[in-house]
Amino acid sequence: MENEQQSSIRYRNFAFLYRKMTEHRPKTFSNLNRPAVVKAASEKEWDLIIIGGGITGAGISLDAALRGLKVLLLEKSDFASGTSSKSTKLIHGGLRYLKQLELGLVRESGLERVVAHNNACHLVHPRNMLLPIVKQGSFSAFSAGIAIWVYDVLARVSGKQKRRKLSKEDTLKLEPLLNKNLLKSSVVYSEYRTDDARLTMELIKAARRNQAAAFNYMEVKDFNLVNGQIVGVNCQDILSDEPLSFRSKVVVNAAGPWVDILRKADNPDSQTNLVLSKGSHIVFNKSDLPINNSTYFDVFDGRMVFAIPRGKSVYVGTTDTIYTGNLDEVVCSADDAAYLLKAVKHMFDIPKLSTEDIQSSWAGLRPLVKQSGKGTKDISRKDEIFYSDTGLISIAGGKLTGFRKMAERVVDVVMERLELSKQTLTEEYTIHHNPYENYQQYQEELKQLQQKHPQADIAHLLSSYGKDAYIILQDASEKWGGDLIKSEVAYTIEHEAAALPIDFIERRTGWLYFDMTSVKKHLDRIIDCFATELGKDAAWVKEQKVYCLEVIRKHGLE
Ligand code: FAD
Repeated sequence: MENEQQSSIRYRNFAFLYRKMTEHRPKTFSNLNRPAVVKAASEKEWDLIIIGGGITGAGISLDAALRGLKVLLLEKSDFASGTSSKSTKLIHGGLRYLKQLELGLVRESGLERVVAHNNACHLVHPRNMLLPIVKQGSFSAFSAGIAIWVYDVLARVSGKQKRRKLSKEDTLKLEPLLNKNLLKSSVVYSEYRTDDARLTMELIKAARRNQAAAFNYMEVKDFNLVNGQIVGVNCQDILSDEPLSFRSKVVVNAAGPWVDILRKADNPDSQTNLVLSKGSHIVFNKSDLPINNSTYFDVFDGRMVFAIPRGKSVYVGTTDTIYTGNLDEVVCSADDAAYLLKAVKHMFDIPKLSTEDIQSSWAGLRPLVKQSGKGTKDISRKDEIFYSDTGLISIAGGKLTGFRKMAERVVDVVMERLELSKQTLTEEYTIHHNPYENYQQYQEELKQLQQKHPQADIAHLLSSYGKDAYIILQDASEKWGGDLIKSEVAYTIEHEAAALPIDFIERRTGWLYFDMTSVKKHLDRIIDCFATELGKDAAWVKEQKVYCLEVIRKHGLE
């Protein structure tokens, strides 16, 4: 018979093996068992409810969960469906803020770039940024040199990533399509490119690994008060159409452009603190706008615009116009597209490029904190916290890049309210559950995996899901008869709470913006896979198809 010692060894061996097998499987995160999970959440008292599943709310949820708080994040649509999937997708210091002498903001964002890269290197990629120096441009060679030197010093940029000045000839070797009549020289400096929606999703997944709960399609309608103080929120579950309530000691309003609407739901007399500025982007096939470098260039009206290559596409943006329309229906207008097209043709010698070549587009709203007498372009991008008499804490302004520091500031306030004292732990926290040790490791794996799977878009899989790409590849062959699309869809339903086909094509993959061909080719399979996984009928399939086609049409500017 097995003695006690043998049985203990056997147990330890089994536990070790089990841990080995499962340590790299992510925790499931889905809407498959939603009614039961939502019900359980409504029966608890939370330390902190966060309204808004954009980058701000996601960052707050991770910071608070790491400090040991019981956290519930509520998002009225899909995660990152607001501004946090509509940005220029740069983790950057914001060179132009130097001109406004916002040294603190530039320093903080500059330093945060490296933290974000270190903590999620498959998602935050270092990229050279080319700044052409042109006749009558925003920067002369001298002022650009000084500005980028200050930028590098503030952000402690060193070594290979430091700025380089290039002559006109060398600039044209690097980027032959630049307008030769305008170009004088250029400076190359370093920035980081990300996928805003994926970064938001990774933060929410990380918060969940630390016991936070999060629901998409859960709209907060108003607040529950006891003795004039908020003790919870009343919601509408958009998926089931059921009303329900959640209780919490503290509530944070991180609703981005919707912050003022919730502040008014809390107190109808509260002032409007935000001004909303619309920013649009248009996307071309790289074959139609064949540029190699991310470029930050002057436009005919004194503004500056980015052109950023990404995979087989190049996107151009952004505009900056005051917005007073419907917050849930923000689109790139024909005028926005015409402006951006004119801008790109002004800087690049590409006479044939036309609106017909626009593959996709998007538009989002900057929730800027009002500053009297200033236009949207001059308003500071700093974040600000507002307090209401009922205890509601609202945060607005800020940038994608600064999400971690914004979260830290908000959670410091929450901790004070709760009379707790733990400091933030996010600076060193690797966001993905199975991270790459460094960027080089990521790049090597990308090369090897692409050789092994020449038919698959490994760059997309690895930069979107990190090492979870292996799960998608493995499940494709073992569960889905080699169908990689179905495997990817199933992964996002089971591990990323995708509830509708649009969640997949717009935010989990970004295909709606950068790979319209895949969207059109695979749409039926994607919808079918959702229907099978979620147990939906033919009417649902039809309805989703109509909806997706409408969204595709709008983004393609048809
Ligand atoms: P959002 O992402 O809008 O999130 C708020 C969420 O709250 C939404 O998802 C919304 O659905 C939800 N919500 C609203 N009301 C409710 C409710 N009642 N109940 C539940 N949920 C609710 N920053 C950078 O650092 N780099 C860039 O390159 C960059 N480019 C930009 C380009 C453009 C065109 C724009 C517009 C902004 C850019 N920014 C950039 C800024 C950055 O994108 C934003 O600061 C950031 O995404 C704001 O995130 P947020 O979470 O505060 O807001």
